[in-house]
Amino acid sequence: MSDPAYKLELQDISRVYDGQAVVDGLSIRLSAGEVTCLLGPSGCGKSTTLRIAAGVDQQTTGRVMIDGQIVSGPSDHMPPEERQIGLMFQDFALFPHLDVERNVGFGLKGPRSKKKARVKELLQKVDLDGYQSKYPHQLSGGEQQRVALARALAPKPQVMLMDEPFSGLDDRLRDDVRDATLELLKAENTAVLLVTHEPEEAMRMADQIALMRNGKIVQAGAPYNIYNAPVDKAAAAFFSDVNVIKGSVTNALTETPFGQFLTPGMVDDTEVEIIIRPQHLKLDFDRQGRGPNPTVADGVPARGMVKRARYLGHQSLVEFMMDYDGSVLKVLMPGVFLPKPDTPLWLSMRRDRCFLFKK
Ligand code: ADP
Ligand code: MG
Repeated sequence: MSDPAYKLELQDISRVYDGQAVVDGLSIRLSAGEVTCLLGPSGCGKSTTLRIAAGVDQQTTGRVMIDGQIVSGPSDHMPPEERQIGLMFQDFALFPHLDVERNVGFGLKGPRSKKKARVKELLQKVDLDGYQSKYPHQLSGGEQQRVALARALAPKPQVMLMDEPFSGLDDRLRDDVRDATLELLKAENTAVLLVTHEPEEAMRMADQIALMRNGKIVQAGAPYNIYNAPVDKAAAAFFSDVNVIKGSVTNALTETPFGQFLTPGMVDDTEVEIIIRPQHLKLDFDRQGRGPNPTVADGVPARGMVKRARYLGHQSLVEFMMDYDGSVLKVLMPGVFLPKPDTPLWLSMRRDRCFLFKK
């Protein structure tokens, strides 16, 4: 049975095209006032999932529930216009021949004065009150996007479905429009499913991230958990560059150039990969590998030679060629840190920031 606490529920949805499941047993639940980001690489089935939720495509198996009601299942299929959903896409154009007032009021029914008041309320919330009689071509890209958002939200949809809605905006504008959008969605208490292939966007917008790969959700949770406790190497690597240190198990321990890792329950000769993000490798200036016994927290430092260092703005990216096997590790250092090529330096790992996976 479904719990009507959820505004949108996709239950075990699959979609087969030409014998191939592009969405494969996917389940998701959205509550009011919550933004869930469906995040994954291009072609993994995000838009198909969104279209199924909207009702413009139909799943091969599974059910779609909105506010506890089946809107699509084996024997029902409610058309999109009856589903109380708002839709927004990258190329979701405004009506060019209608002014802002009529664009935003387009889906509204009822007396004129009430419509006018609702349009004003929304335009105030997107900071565009006073723009009522302007036409789309008189607005900037960001303003058009905010009008489109107001239009989608005007009929008070329970569920808002957004497919890469910010990808048409230039970088500087995008952050502002994202923030304004998030504020309005929260104010309206809408349940939101936002599709994106950009991890930064998902981290910025989402209460929950559902990480998707090959038609399946591989991990779902709060952004903090997804980033800091990835389920596998690919999930870690989706959010940033990662360094990989290889090892193999002997007596429930994995020996690496950075010291030993406990690998309880793993049989001898299991191939292991230790994954660490570039900002979680540390430079070991004091000890340089020669000092007192390393603590368990820091492990053992390993020596490498600076290969290249670049300043990226608020941090510096330094690449090291490691003495132990010639592999290259990337380190992000805050601020300006530009050591010369061939400078020898010792690296250590923040043990609490390592992810260890079977290969
Ligand atoms: P995403 O939005 O994650 O980039 P899509 O959901 O658009 O991915 O597409 C997932 C896969 O389904 C792709 O391989 C795409 O080619 C395929 N696909 C999407 N729509 C159709 C269709 N109408 N007919 C056949 N294949 C499709
Ligand atoms: Mg898509």
